[in-house]
Amino acid sequence: MQSGKISVQTENIFPIIKKFLYSEQEIFLRELVSNAVDACNKLKTLSSKGEFKGELGNLKIEIIPDPEAKTLTIRDNGIGMTEEEVKKYLNQLAFSSAQEFVEKYQNETSIIGHFGLGFYSAFMVADKVDVLTLSHQPNAQAVKWSCKGDTDYTIESIEKSTRGTDIILHLSEDCKDYSEQYKIETLLEKFCKFLPIPIQLGTKKEKQTVNNVETEVDVDHIINNTHPLWKKTPAELNDQDYITFYQELYPFAPEPMFWIHLNIDYPFNLTGVLYFPKIKNQLEIQKNKIHLYCNQVFVTDDVKEIVPEFLMLLHGVIDSPDIPLNVSRSYLQSDAQVRKITGYITKKVAEKLHDLYKKDRSEFEKKWDDIGLFIKYGLISDEKFAEKATQFVLLKNTDHQYFTIDEYKEKIKDHQTDKQNKLTVLYTNDASAQYSSIAKCKERMYDVLSLDQIIDNHFIQHLEYKAELHFKRVDADTIDQLIEKEEQNETVLSESELKIIADLFTSAALNKASKTELKALSPNDPPVQIVRPEFIRRMSEMQHMMHMMKGDENNPFRDQYQMIINSNHPLIAKSLLSMDEAKQQESVQYLLQLSLLENQMLKGEQLHDFIQKSISKMN
Ligand code: ADP
Repeated sequence: MQSGKISVQTENIFPIIKKFLYSEQEIFLRELVSNAVDACNKLKTLSSKGEFKGELGNLKIEIIPDPEAKTLTIRDNGIGMTEEEVKKYLNQLAFSSAQEFVEKYQNETSIIGHFGLGFYSAFMVADKVDVLTLSHQPNAQAVKWSCKGDTDYTIESIEKSTRGTDIILHLSEDCKDYSEQYKIETLLEKFCKFLPIPIQLGTKKEKQTVNNVETEVDVDHIINNTHPLWKKTPAELNDQDYITFYQELYPFAPEPMFWIHLNIDYPFNLTGVLYFPKIKNQLEIQKNKIHLYCNQVFVTDDVKEIVPEFLMLLHGVIDSPDIPLNVSRSYLQSDAQVRKITGYITKKVAEKLHDLYKKDRSEFEKKWDDIGLFIKYGLISDEKFAEKATQFVLLKNTDHQYFTIDEYKEKIKDHQTDKQNKLTVLYTNDASAQYSSIAKCKERMYDVLSLDQIIDNHFIQHLEYKAELHFKRVDADTIDQLIEKEEQNETVLSESELKIIADLFTSAALNKASKTELKALSPNDPPVQIVRPEFIRRMSEMQHMMHMMKGDENNPFRDQYQMIINSNHPLIAKSLLSMDEAKQQESVQYLLQLSLLENQMLKGEQLHDFIQKSISKMN
C-alpha cells in the first residue's frame, strides 16, 4: 500500500468547498453519474475505432444506496482507470482545478451548480470516498483509492474482476439521506432522466404472462430514457410521439397545441423541442417550464438568461453543449454565443407561427385565443420577433372575425378615418357592459375590436406607436365625437341660453369631478351622455396600477367623467328653457339618471346611491 499527499497548495480546501456548495449540494450525483456516462462513452469510442478489442457488453451504470452502511455507490462498466490514471486524474487534475475554481468563483456560488466540480463534488456529501477501478486495458491491475476529505489519500492493489469503476461514498452524518432509495430516485429523475447510458436503481416488479399464467418477476429498474425525443430527427417522429414525450415531461398538463423541433449544428450546437401550451387565462401562466440540458444532462429550469422573456411561456427542452455555463449568470446575457442562440430560437418560433398562419388560416384563427397572448407579448417585448409577427398578429372584432393589421386598416378606412386623415380603431374591453355604445357604433357602420386581455393595454400602445393607429374605447366619447369628422352642427341656442343650461347641469351633477360640456349634436342624438375620455381613462388605469397597494383614494382621475349635453336636442333647447326653476331641476335630475342608466358608467353601488338620492329629491 502506498500513501501520499494530494498536490494542492491550500491545505483546508475541503471545508471551504463544503460550505460554498451547500445550497447546490445535490449536484454531486449528477457530476458522478456524468463521469460514469463519460467512462462508458469513451469505451464505446475506443471500441468503434478498434482500439478496444474486448467485449463491450451491456454498458450501464448502477446506483446502489445502502442505508445500513450509510453509503452510496455509483458503479459503471466503462473505461476504468489504471493506477497511473487514478493518480493523474484524481489527485492532480481534479483537485488542482477545483482549487482554482473556488478561488475564481468565491462570490458566485450560484453558478457552481451549473458548472459542477466533477469528481470533487463527492466530498460535499461524503466523509470518505473509495474509488475501486479496473481499467479496460488487457491485464490491468485493479486499484483502490481512498481519501477522507483531507489532502491525504491511499492507493492499493485490489481484486476486482469486473471492468469499470465503483465510486463508494461514505456519507457524512448530515447527508445520510442520500443512502435512501426514494431520495436517490428523486434526484436521478431530476438530473439523469435522459442520459444516454442506462442507469439502474435496483429492481422492480413487473407482471409477465408465461403460458397464460401471470407472474411477477424482478426486472432492472431503469431510470432513464436513453433516446429522448429531441435527439431524434423529425422525420422518424409522429404527432403522438411528441405528445407522449410532453406528457413524460409534464404529467398533469393538458395536451400542447403544437411544437417546434430545434436542430442546429452550426454556428453552435443546439437541439430541443419547444411546445406551445394552452394559455387561456393569464393566471395560468407559469414560467420555468423549459428545461436546459447539456448533452442530455439536466442543468437547470431557470433559463431566463438564455431564452427571451416572452418565450418562457413555452414548455419543453433545450439541449446545448455550447451554452457557456462556467460563467456568471449576469454575464450570460451579453455573451455573443448566447445572443446567437436566443436569436435562433426566436426566429424559429416566429417562422413556425408564420407557417401555421400561411398553411391554414382558419385553424390559426381557432387557436388564436390560446396563442394570441403569447404573440402579443412577443410583439411588444422583442423587436426581432415583432418584425415577423406583425404579419400574422390578429385583431378580433365583436363579431368574432379576425383580421391582420393591414386587413383591418383596409376594412375601416372608409368609415373610420377622422378629419386629420387618421384611422381610429374602436374597441371594447367588456362587450356586455359596453353593449349600448357598441350598438351605436354599428349603426354608424363602425367596427369594434374586442381587446379584453390584460396585455391589450400594452398592445394598443404598441400599435399606436408602430402601426400609426389611434385607439378609442367605444365609451370614450359621444358617438358623434368618437371619430371626429369635418361636419359640425350649428347650435340653435344663444350664448346666454347655453350658459343657463350649463349651470343647471353643473350644479345638478353629484359627481363634482365630472366636467360638463355643451355640444351642438344632432337633434336625434341623446340629450345627455356621460363618457369617460380615452386619455382620462388611461391615466386613471395607470394611477390604479401604480397605487394598487395603497388603494384608489389618491387617484385624481378616478371620478373624472364628462357630461355631454346636446344643446340641439328638443328637450334641452325648447322644453327645459321654458320650465320654471323647480321643474327644471327635476327634469335635469331625470335626464342625468337616464343617461347613467344607459351608460352604466358608474359602479353599481354609486348608481344605486344616486337613484336613491334623486328619488328623495323628487319627493
Ligand atoms: P472532468 O470530468 O471534468 O474531467 P472530474 O473531476 O469529474 O473532471 O474527473 C477527472 C477525471 O477523472 C476525468 O476526466 C476522468 O478521466 C477520470 N474519471 C472520473 N470518474 C471516472 C470514472 N467513473 N471512470 C473512469 N474515469 C473517471
